[in-house]
Amino acid sequence: MPDVVNSCESVSTARPLSKVVLQKSLKSSIGCTGIGLHSGKKVTMSLNPAAADTGIVFHRTDLEGDDRVIPARWDFVVDTRMATTIGNQSGACVSTIEHLMAALAGCGIDNAIIEIDGAEVPVMDGSAAPFIFLVECAGMIEQHAPRKAIKIERPVKAGDSDKFIKAGDSDKFISATPDDSFSVAFEIDFEDTAVARQQLSMRLVNGTFKTEIARARTFGFVHEVDALRKAGLALGGSLDNAVVISGDTILNGDGLRYDDEFVRHKILDCVGDLYLAGAPIIGQIDALRSGHALNNLFLTSLFSDDASWSYVEMSDASVPGVSHNWDQESALAIA
Ligand SMILES: [Zn+2]
Repeated sequence: MPDVVNSCESVSTARPLSKVVLQKSLKSSIGCTGIGLHSGKKVTMSLNPAAADTGIVFHRTDLEGDDRVIPARWDFVVDTRMATTIGNQSGACVSTIEHLMAALAGCGIDNAIIEIDGAEVPVMDGSAAPFIFLVECAGMIEQHAPRKAIKIERPVKAGDSDKFIKAGDSDKFISATPDDSFSVAFEIDFEDTAVARQQLSMRLVNGTFKTEIARARTFGFVHEVDALRKAGLALGGSLDNAVVISGDTILNGDGLRYDDEFVRHKILDCVGDLYLAGAPIIGQIDALRSGHALNNLFLTSLFSDDASWSYVEMSDASVPGVSHNWDQESALAIA
């Protein structure tokens, strides 16, 4: 436990320490190398500690000066085709950030500098589990600042009759309603029988992200591969980093990691996309066939109305997405 705990205990006017959740960063830097799911290009990335109130910020190490800095926030999203891409005014981008963002959300990391020497986060195995492993290896440290969350104050919805949604997409939505913790209920409905209709509701507290969601991999359909590759997408996709589906057949030799891996991965994407809010959300998320575009539109809707949300300092009675005993769990996972 870092010494910040002792210094806070000495302040007699503070609320009891056990009730206050502090911001967290990484204890040390850690790196990885892999290929981009869509670019197919090799990239090296490192996760680094950052000061309190920094947020999650990407630095493109192959670029110079301020041009290389891209905050991981909803208002920096520039593309949502098959992945979430953020970019700055200089045109520097980083794509496919959602699985890494989900891992950081699940670990409760508030502040980190992500250094990357290319334009796409490595896909690793197509899930968030390798990124959680990196965070656990680096360790986490509490910081001298209370953790803030975004509390949903009244219902917010994107989709359905929303003017931004194309005709034919009217049966998609994502909504939030006030609640005392972070939970996601998600439903998908695909024509391909291997996926079909799946529904799952998950309260993301006490480590459930790591055990129930993090290992779910991205997925793709054989019949879409040609079109995606013509569009410059999925160039790095393979059976090593995605579940590949052909009709009623899963082509991966080892099959699925969860019976309903597809809806779990959609929850993973949603958790990652919503962490671009800049803080954890406290509220109930309901989503039907939502994806990166709608997830981002939801955040735009949320922040367009100040009455829909408020910042609250988190207490240990309201900790979304992370175990109170994370350090213990981490030690066990690595042992
Ligand atoms: Zn994904």
